[in-house]
Amino acid sequence: MTDTRVYEGRSDAQRAAMVKGGARSLTSELNAEQAVAATFGDGPLLIIAGAGTGKTRTLIYRLAHLIEKGVRPERILLLTFTRRAAQEMLARAERLVGGACRGVNGGTFHATAHRLLRRFGAAAGVANDFSIMDQGDAEDLIQLSRAQLGYAESKKRFPRKETLHYVYSRHINTGFAIDDILRDEYSQFVDYHDDFLKIFADYTRRKGERNLVDYDDLLLFWATMLEAAPSIAERIASLYDHVLVDEYQDTNVLQARILRGMCRRHSNITVVGDDAQSIYSFRGASFRNILDFPRQFPGTTIIALEQNYRSTQPILDASNTLISRASERYTKTLWTKRSGGEAPWLVTAQDEQQQTRFVVDRILELHEEGVPLREIAVLFRAGYMSADLEIELTNRKIPFEKWGGLKFLEAAHVKDVLAFLRILENPRDEVSWYRILMLLPGIGDVTARAAIDLMAQMAWDSRAFGQYRVPARARDAHTQLVALLDQLRATPLVDMASVSGDIARVRQLYDGLLREKYDRVEPRLADLDQLQAIAGGYPSREAFLSALALEPPQATQDLAGGSDEERDVLVLSTAHSAKGKEWDAVFLIWAADGWFPMARAINDDEELEEERRLMYVALTRARNHLAVTCPLNSYSTRRSADYAIDQLSRFLDRGVREKMERVVPRMDGSVDREPEPAPSAPIDLRALLRGRFGA
Ligand code: ATP
Ligand code: MG
Repeated sequence: MTDTRVYEGRSDAQRAAMVKGGARSLTSELNAEQAVAATFGDGPLLIIAGAGTGKTRTLIYRLAHLIEKGVRPERILLLTFTRRAAQEMLARAERLVGGACRGVNGGTFHATAHRLLRRFGAAAGVANDFSIMDQGDAEDLIQLSRAQLGYAESKKRFPRKETLHYVYSRHINTGFAIDDILRDEYSQFVDYHDDFLKIFADYTRRKGERNLVDYDDLLLFWATMLEAAPSIAERIASLYDHVLVDEYQDTNVLQARILRGMCRRHSNITVVGDDAQSIYSFRGASFRNILDFPRQFPGTTIIALEQNYRSTQPILDASNTLISRASERYTKTLWTKRSGGEAPWLVTAQDEQQQTRFVVDRILELHEEGVPLREIAVLFRAGYMSADLEIELTNRKIPFEKWGGLKFLEAAHVKDVLAFLRILENPRDEVSWYRILMLLPGIGDVTARAAIDLMAQMAWDSRAFGQYRVPARARDAHTQLVALLDQLRATPLVDMASVSGDIARVRQLYDGLLREKYDRVEPRLADLDQLQAIAGGYPSREAFLSALALEPPQATQDLAGGSDEERDVLVLSTAHSAKGKEWDAVFLIWAADGWFPMARAINDDEELEEERRLMYVALTRARNHLAVTCPLNSYSTRRSADYAIDQLSRFLDRGVREKMERVVPRMDGSVDREPEPAPSAPIDLRALLRGRFGA
């Protein structure tokens, strides 16, 4: 790291001198360090700084600056964590320097990989009509390998498909050897090391034969094209003169390799991030990646930002204290000029109902004081934790949208319908064939596999399935399916947009199957209506399927269309999905041990550290109002006991609590803001005994 430069505080005159030259009206909206970063010349630049210090803002201004300086927008690659984040950043840059920004290539690593693979993959042996598998598909394909290789279900304790996929994906994204992963995380399976390898080899072969690409392949192929195919690497790397990356703390070593490859002709790479907010280790990300950046990009200039522009000092005080307990941390304690404001509230409720009532009452109060609903968010550790709140909001007619934890596309019936479209796009898509065949009355596992084998023998010819002779009881279903597929392969209906038209035709067969298969039919049919409506927005099946696999809608609002600004709705979000966002008022609910941190993280030091960073992310989303709530009693079927007495989250230790104001909701809905003596856990005998004889 000898040639790394750290930019530290300089005198105002020095700063002004550094900014001059590039100094324009743009930089007047930045502080000195931000301005240096935004107008930085060529070479690697790392902005490592805490929450709300303007990292994203600086990146937007840097983008605007580059364009103003004459860099062609299409020669800039902007990598963000979600598609929406890229769109928002480009829209903001556009407000600074006009429409030129639209030409910038912005999006996620995976979406960019997809674009490049469609364009350059053919030259690298990946025919460009590949289909993308989402995680569920990948698991299903691994399951086929597992079954085919004879690891039958009955074999005791042989890892499940989810575990197999996890180990595979972890290996690809972190570069850790399989035996190391097994030793560290699945010691009960170390003896199966060779079996893991066999299954992974078969899985890899299957993907190749069927021209399927999983999420990890997208990154892996991109990295490999850059590292092992010099002529293609040259063409890809020469597409861009500048690469900008937001939220770098959540990237992994594979992504770092990609960036090195992209910068083989120049070293114009700017990354911004905060190691204290690294929260995606389950996807193979590591905050060490950001700390390693200067080593991987020699000559890196590091700029640190310490002034927070988002939150009031009392909110920062509590957040700073919480993160000061982290065992490893690079970024420093934040300060702000935003003095005043009240201490964050720590609200202990009797139970979930009281927590819900408190949150809803307080939201309405803030709303009456003039805070728009869209400036208020309720955050939680996991999607299911907002169920009670959602019911109450619906009853009280408060509009909301939910981010993260949206299961729409994972629903079996949605996957069923997509499977039909997928075999049309890629007749070799074995997983989708299997899914469809198993839906049909009279067809079971044996028949389904035999049909797939025959199709494989006939080189997946489109007529192969029609020639398969099914058992008598499945004959009707077979005829119907063959007719449907023929129809779909023929020209599309003229009166319907083609993709939603396809879905309509699939549903002529599928809706009947759905009624047979499921109990609660209406909401499922409504999901399919929605799927059909979304499909209307896509020009082709391929575009639709790729978009769903790569950028699954994260919010109900993504499905409905319309931008944040237009709709005054409350946001409910997982802490993960709230990354990078800010609101005037933030509620964090279920701040109880076992909920946040999640129970499974409690016995693992690294996971516990990540939970702490996640809570730091949640608290630092608030500008002016922050309330953290914890129900003291919970009745939950999610935990083994019928009834549990909750402890406040361990992250809210005494030091953090001292920066907060204890607030106790009264039964009548008002709040008591006198500091409370430590609450002895209240007991409710009836509740304790409830559930004894079933519901
Ligand atoms: P996070 O770590 O949460 O992603 P961040 O470091 O990316 O945060 P931003 O979202 O860019 O921070 O900025 C936080 C808020 O502070 C935004 O509202 C932004 O507009 C504002 N802000 C940042 N810098 C300045 C500045 N120099 N002047 C005025 N406002 C600023
Ligand atoms: Mg940001």
